[in-house]
Amino acid sequence: MQQRKIPMRKCIGCNEMYPKRELIRIVRSPENEISLDTTGKKPGRGAYICKKAECLKQAVKTKRLNRTFSCEISAEIYTALEKEIQQYEQ
Ligand SMILES: [Zn+2]
Repeated sequence: MQQRKIPMRKCIGCNEMYPKRELIRIVRSPENEISLDTTGKKPGRGAYICKKAECLKQAVKTKRLNRTFSCEISAEIYTALEKEIQQYEQ
């Protein structure tokens, strides 16, 4: 029996590797639009973050998203992330 490999991705907050499906994906579309990808199927370059308020705080502080996508990240994206994470933390 071959063991199935679980795709791992790095969280932009804590820099730890986690299984992809345990993280929230943020994606930049080919049109340079940043959005949350809750389905994991949107095309474009992706960044991943844990469903933890602490990781989001860290990512905001270090501006990791701005650097990953080399563009400004609007406040709406952070608000959307915050809401998404709150759902999981309850
Ligand atoms: Zn994290």
